[in-house]
Amino acid sequence: MAKQTNLRETRKYCYLCVNNIVDVDYKDTQLLRRFISSYMKIVPTRRSGVCASHQRKVSNSIKRARFMALLPYIPR
Ligand SMILES: [Zn+2]
Repeated sequence: MAKQTNLRETRKYCYLCVNNIVDVDYKDTQLLRRFISSYMKIVPTRRSGVCASHQRKVSNSIKRARFMALLPYIPR
């Protein structure tokens, strides 16, 4: 029997856990871009599916990258 329709049946998996990325480097802007919205905001866990520990590392790295002028604070 089919389950009642749910907005999300399958669980999103943490991109960093799946790819065995233990530490997030703030210099790896290519990777960090994945977790930034078009408004240059950090994508929340409910949208990215990243686990709590990785979300923490990602957000800290994005903030570091912004401070080091590798990523913008606001869109152009
Ligand atoms: Zn993870």
